[in-house]
Order: sequence, then C-alpha cells, then structure tokens
Amino acid sequence: MPATHLALITGANRGIGLEIARQLGGLGHRVVVAARDGGKAETAVATLKAQGIDAAPVVLDVTSTASVSAAIAQTEQQHGPVGILVNNAAILIDGPGGFDARLFDMTDDTVRQTFETNVLGPSRLIQAVLPGMIARGYGRIVNMSSLAGQLTDMGGGFPAYRMSKAALNALTRIATAEAGRGDIKINSCSPGWVKTEMGGEGANRTVEKGAETPVWLATLGPDGPTGGFFHDKTQVAW
Ligand code: NAP
Repeated sequence: MPATHLALITGANRGIGLEIARQLGGLGHRVVVAARDGGKAETAVATLKAQGIDAAPVVLDVTSTASVSAAIAQTEQQHGPVGILVNNAAILIDGPGGFDARLFDMTDDTVRQTFETNVLGPSRLIQAVLPGMIARGYGRIVNMSSLAGQLTDMGGGFPAYRMSKAALNALTRIATAEAGRGDIKINSCSPGWVKTEMGGEGANRTVEKGAETPVWLATLGPDGPTGGFFHDKTQVAW
C-alpha cells in the first residue's frame, strides 16, 4: 500500500472541499477538515467518521494570518506534519448578478475581499507549510483554481473572481519555483462547473467528479508533474 500522509483541506465543511476530504480519507490518508466555523468542521468530521474515515477538525479562517498560524500549529502538534495541503476555500461575491456581474459594476471592496480569501488565503497556507515540506523532502499542494482564471481563454463576467484565480495560478508558479528541492509537487486545477453553493443548481458536474483531479494531484507519485494547471487530469494552458 502506498504511504499515507496528513492532508489538510481548507473550506472542507461543504462542497468540493468536503468531497476531497472524503476521497482522500477513502485512500487511507488522515484528513484535517479546516473550516472557519468550528461547529461546521465538527459536523463534517462526524459525517466522515461515520463513513470510516480518519478525520479531525480545525478552525481556520484563511483571511487571518493568526488563524492560519494557530491552525497549522494545532494540527502539527496533534497529528504531525502536513504532507498534503489543498487550498480549496474561496468566495465568489461579484455582483450584481453573480456570473453575470460586469467589470463596470465592480467595487474595490469586492476585489479586496475576493483577493483576501482566494489569493492571500492560499499564500498564507503555503507560507505556513512549505518550509516544513522542503525540510522533510515531501509535499503535495493543490490550489483550487478555475478555468475562469485561464488567461488564454479569458472572458467577461465575474471579474474579481476571475482575476483572483489568475493570481492564484501565478502563486502556483512562484511557489513551485521557490520550493526548489525534494519531492514537492505544487499544482493548480479546475474542478469544472460543479453543483455546490458556489456553482449553483445549473452546474453540470457532481462534487465526486469535481474532486477527482484535485485528489489525483494531492496523491501524485514522485514522477508526477509540478507547476502545472490541470483539468480532468490533463494539463491545460494558463
Ligand atoms: P462552496 O460550496 O461555496 O464552498 C466554499 C468553501 O470555502 C466553504 O467551506 C466556505 O466555508 C469556505 N470558505 C469561504 N471563505 C472562507 C474563509 N475565509 N476561511 C475558510 N473557509 C472559507 O464552493 P465550491 O464550489 O465547493 O468550491 C471549492 C473550490 O473550487 C473553490 O476554490 C472554487 O473557487 C473552486 N471552483 C468551484 C467551481 C464550481 O463550479 N463549484 C468551479 C471552479 C472552481 P463556509 O461554509 O464557512 O462559508
């Protein structure tokens, strides 16, 4: 059986994050369900445990450096080093009209809040866990991006979210370049359009399908890719 690792997933109390936790747990990894609401983290952990998964909760608000530091310290103290990090938590608050929101309606506050969660959040998590991964010579980091952030096919609509995912992809490249040594794999992926609170009822994918590629990237072997952008386990253009 392949080695198992401690996997921390942000925003794992619902949606694709919870399903990533379920699938990684099903592969034998111990999963840490990170959520900004402790009660929701506990509920998700209870659901996973009922399915035979080794799961533990931690309170983690990705918009707070202090919360990230405290959550990583608590996790490492209670469960050991983080071998897998999935930066899943994100918001889509463009308005009015959600996916129809236009650039000329965008406010500074929307951009600030979106970047605080979708870009600075993952950046804080990477800063907290990557040095340990480099020191131990092992790590898998998955940044949950979106084809909405793909520069080569950039369209209009929900501009703050699109810009945040393009910036997250830049973070993937920067972190990969700086990781430098050891068996460290850092990749971005798009789950496709998934039926969740963010994706909405009209989405054409289940959470099971949406979690497939991030789980694959989280469990890559030593010959797996790093510094790439993936959709359906296939590399796509930035
Ligand atoms: P979702 O259902 O809206 O869930 C988002 C998760 O992020 C929730 O657990 C939420 O927690 C958490 N979160 C938000 N702000 C947070 C914060 N400050 N600190 C900690 N957690 C926070 O979204 P989803 O559809 O599962 O999306 C998961 C990932 O896939 C996101 O990165 C998203 O951008 C990406 N994605 C989704 C789709 C899609 O179609 N669904 C498409 C492309 C990419 P609360 O419950 O506390 O709000």
